[in-house]
Amino acid sequence: MARPRVAIFSNPGPIPHRNCDHPGCEASGEHRAPRSRATLDSFYWFCLDHVRAYNASWNYYAGMSTDEMEAEIRNDTVWQRPTWPLGARVSALHAARWAGFGMFDIDGETPSEKPKRPPRSPQEKALALFDLVPPLTLAGLKARYKELVKRHHPDTHGGDKEAEERLKDIIQAYSLLKAAYFPT
Ligand SMILES: [Zn+2]
Repeated sequence: MARPRVAIFSNPGPIPHRNCDHPGCEASGEHRAPRSRATLDSFYWFCLDHVRAYNASWNYYAGMSTDEMEAEIRNDTVWQRPTWPLGARVSALHAARWAGFGMFDIDGETPSEKPKRPPRSPQEKALALFDLVPPLTLAGLKARYKELVKRHHPDTHGGDKEAEERLKDIIQAYSLLKAAYFPT
């Protein structure tokens, strides 16, 4: 879906110094943006980053009254409180709306940013392959081993190469688990 074009509102002339209207932003507000389509003579003053974000979200705000829009912008301040779990508070809509503009640290919200699980150890892999959870019993391990060998034996798969590889994994996992849990 094509995004409607949005204009960047900026003021080229000299302006009295003032801070960006985005709550909590300390940068100077050098770029103006109309508060609403209805009152194009009333402006917010934003820093470059925030005027860009504001313009980008113009379509979102366009349908709101000035009061609603201001309430929305005030809400943004709340989201910036670092002690609040942002992911829990920000709706998917807002996340999508702001994420592209680097305004909020949404680390932990995008799946790629999630801390990766450390690679599994051979022992963990073996347990997963055997579908077992410690504590193990020797009898239980042996029974499971027998079952898996039976199921994956190449003879029952017409000498299938994959079954053979699978069987090797099972044998390896078995000796690993046996050595780890039932050392002799
Ligand atoms: Zn700003």
